[in-house]
Amino acid sequence: MLAHRIVLKRGPSIWHRRLLSIFRRPTMRECVTNVKQQDSGEGGVNAFVAFNQAPTGVESAPGRLANCAIAVKDNICTSEFPTTSSSLILQDFQPSYDATVVRLLKEEGATIIGKTNCDEFGMGSMNTYTYHGPVLNPFQTPSPMIPWRHREQRSAGGSSGGSAAAVAAYMCYAALSTDTGGSTRLPASYCGIVGFKPSYGLISRWGVISFADSLDCVGIMAAGVSQVHSLFRVLEKYDINDPTSIPNELRDEARSAIQSNLPNDLKNIVIGIPEEYFPAELNPSISDLFLSTISKLRNLGAIIVPISLPNTKYALSAYYVLASSEAGSNLARYDGIRYGFRSGTRSPVTTSANVYASTRTKGFGEEVQRRILLGTYALTSEAFDNYFLQAQRVRLLVRSDFDRVFRIPNVLSSTPNNPSAARRVDVIMHPSAIRTAPLVQRQKENSELDPYVQDVLTVPASLAGVPALSVPMGMSRDDGWPVGLSIVGQWGTDELVMAIGQLTERALGGFLK
Ligand code: GLN
Repeated sequence: MLAHRIVLKRGPSIWHRRLLSIFRRPTMRECVTNVKQQDSGEGGVNAFVAFNQAPTGVESAPGRLANCAIAVKDNICTSEFPTTSSSLILQDFQPSYDATVVRLLKEEGATIIGKTNCDEFGMGSMNTYTYHGPVLNPFQTPSPMIPWRHREQRSAGGSSGGSAAAVAAYMCYAALSTDTGGSTRLPASYCGIVGFKPSYGLISRWGVISFADSLDCVGIMAAGVSQVHSLFRVLEKYDINDPTSIPNELRDEARSAIQSNLPNDLKNIVIGIPEEYFPAELNPSISDLFLSTISKLRNLGAIIVPISLPNTKYALSAYYVLASSEAGSNLARYDGIRYGFRSGTRSPVTTSANVYASTRTKGFGEEVQRRILLGTYALTSEAFDNYFLQAQRVRLLVRSDFDRVFRIPNVLSSTPNNPSAARRVDVIMHPSAIRTAPLVQRQKENSELDPYVQDVLTVPASLAGVPALSVPMGMSRDDGWPVGLSIVGQWGTDELVMAIGQLTERALGGFLK
């Protein structure tokens, strides 16, 4: 797999294709052709793990998404395709039902074009921890002088790398992803597309294979904010099957705080820039690009204010303790007995213990095993207070940092929303990633901690459960690769975040700058 090269195949360049896709929906036939030409074989992107060849020419049902080809991450259950979560342990799992999100898309006439590659159970940042082989970033710098064999093989990002690459290579109109700690925003940033993590609990998780339930969200990816918004409006619904789905009264309450004030321009929009989001690891070319982006928004009338979210520095460690603890208990169900892959039945004495051990050793990849070990340890009686409990405390502090700065109060907060001098920001903005897409090969040379650091800017919004949108803000001057700008809002202000996202996208000249 690592020997694969991205070859620029026949047909329009990726820029041309994306320019087209932002102005009109790609037809089903175009999507199918692009998947066939670019996804498999030598140099293939490897975005899809299952693909529906048939939709060409098929009349889809009427609805708001009629004739839209939608790709779905392979940790979201579909009755038409197997759902493997990119894991050997689920290699033959064929759900008999659609996840709520898939059902809602189909009810609006969408066609599910296929299932997309991801990091195993959503754990990773590079889409390299996958049973199906890594996803290669389809973006290419406009440098026709460089022969294809010298072009770089960069990661599409993870864990929703297949969904991001499918959108970026014009293989679908939009894609469903998931986001537990950044898995929608990071690949969106690396591939130069739009990725949205909604407020926790607004989009149903029923039928989504759990990684860490208290953080997992279904994400949406597309070429532009308006396409993301069109899917959000279909998917944002209370679901009785999902115990974490937010009831309608609270949705209405959050909506009423913003509905009448959705902005038509950036004049007097207050944007907070958190000083903690410029860590040492942030590439200087990205901070420069961010600053020039912010000054463009200021020229359009936005009010830029420096803010502090002091507990940000603890967020990454807290995230990994909490996400791994929840993953350790969620993944206990894959034991080779109830369903899925089974190993160890040939040992001289077949006991359930050696079936469990052998199945889980062979069925899970190294990163998933590492998380299970870390999470199980954090929940032991000797470590619980120092790790799990502390991480929960940090999570509350991170959440209260956000609550302190947003002008709109948090409708989920049980503590009274005290008026505070700091409370004046409509949204927060920061770079989505500390660097551009990393080389796929380099992962092995880097330290074990390196992939985790990539999430440093995305995990705080996940811990707080607030909406976060990544829109392309331009190309790094160092290497010409895309970088995303994150727009983060108060819980339930998803419409506001997308409205400001659209204005920002317009201010930056779409994705072409
Ligand atoms: N990269 C993070 C992790 O590995 C986030 C993953 C995600 O959001 N699914 O846990």
